[in-house]
Amino acid sequence: MRFAGVAAISLDLDDTLWPFQPAVERAEATLHAWLVKHAPGTARILPARGMLGKLRNDYEHSRPDLAGNYRALRIGSIELALALAGEDMGLAEEAYGVFYSARQKVEFFEDVWPALTWLSARFPLVALTNGNADLRLTGGGAFFRETLSARAVGIAKPQAGIFHAAALAAGVPASELLHVGDDFHLDYLGALNAGLQAAWLVRDHPKETAPGEYARYVTIRDLTALCCALGGPANL
Ligand SMILES: [Mg+2]
Repeated sequence: MRFAGVAAISLDLDDTLWPFQPAVERAEATLHAWLVKHAPGTARILPARGMLGKLRNDYEHSRPDLAGNYRALRIGSIELALALAGEDMGLAEEAYGVFYSARQKVEFFEDVWPALTWLSARFPLVALTNGNADLRLTGGGAFFRETLSARAVGIAKPQAGIFHAAALAAGVPASELLHVGDDFHLDYLGALNAGLQAAWLVRDHPKETAPGEYARYVTIRDLTALCCALGGPANL
């Protein structure tokens, strides 16, 4: 597979440049340790550190009005834990700061750094995320001309507006922007519907999937394959 007429590339962050779940689990472990130390009553409410994730998800279900606002959801769930424990809810902001810094400690997939080095020397790159990763803290920011987050732009993937904002940031027409991401609906279909070119990053095809299942979509297995499809070497 080769792409034609690509003048710039936009990339999703979570699960595209690094695995998301391990980063969140590490951040929740850090937050749990902080809470138990600074608000000891929370140890009773959260006997296991994994319960922070459950509390966060339960809170999300109870607050559909906060959908997509990851900061508010996390702070709200921390306030809930503090309230249930009879601790000072005023600690929630500081606790969130601890979580947020820890959440930026990601481990990039092996192919990412060499691929971004190759791509950024040839194309303007724009990061496009619905999440709250900050490339200045994760590392890798120097590869990108700009980062657009759903929170800052006020429009989330898969809506066309955020893809058009990415094209504007890259300084190219939408049809010449290639978007790459792991989420079929948010990234791949969203980008195509917005008039961009798109590649669906599928790092691990489920084993039960029949060969050819993905044939009707433009898929890549990693960012090395993306470079290759853009005329780069097969072994970066
Ligand atoms: Mg993603």
